[in-house]
Amino acid sequence: MGNECVDNAVLVIPCSGIGKVHGLISREATYLVTDELAPEQTETMCLALLVKGDPGAVEAVRTHACIAIDGCAKACAEKNVQIAGGAVAKAIQVAEAFKNHRGAKPGSATMLTDEGWAITREIAGSIISEVERLRASEEVAR
Ligand code: SF4
Repeated sequence: MGNECVDNAVLVIPCSGIGKVHGLISREATYLVTDELAPEQTETMCLALLVKGDPGAVEAVRTHACIAIDGCAKACAEKNVQIAGGAVAKAIQVAEAFKNHRGAKPGSATMLTDEGWAITREIAGSIISEVERLRASEEVAR
C-alpha cells in the first residue's frame, strides 16, 4: 500500500522481522490474506512508513480497523500502530501459534518448510476470522 487506503478495508500490518522465520511467517500470512483470501476486504502497509511518521500511513491507521501480526512478544507492529494513534482491533503473535506446534521445523528467515506454511495458513485463518468479525460489526472504518 502507498498512502491511500480503500475506505472500509481492514489494515493487516505485519512486523518487519527481518532475519527471523517468525517475521517471514508474519509477512507471508499477511500476503495470503491481502493477496489471495480477502483482497477486496483488506490492505497492508509497510511498517517502516508508520515508524517514520508518514502522514498517509498515520492517517490510514487512525481511520481504519487494524490487525497487527507480530513475530514475537516485542510486538513492533502493534506498538507502532498504537504510537501512531491507531487502535489495534486484534494483535496476533506468530510465537503464540507455535505453542500448538511444539517441535515444528518451520524453515528459515528466507524460506518456509511445509510445517512453516501450515502455521502460516493457520495464522491467515485467524486473520480472516477477525476480518469477518470486524466487517460484521461494522468496525472497519472509524
Ligand atoms: S515483533 Fe519481534 S520479530 Fe517482529 S520486528 Fe519486532 S522484534 Fe522483530
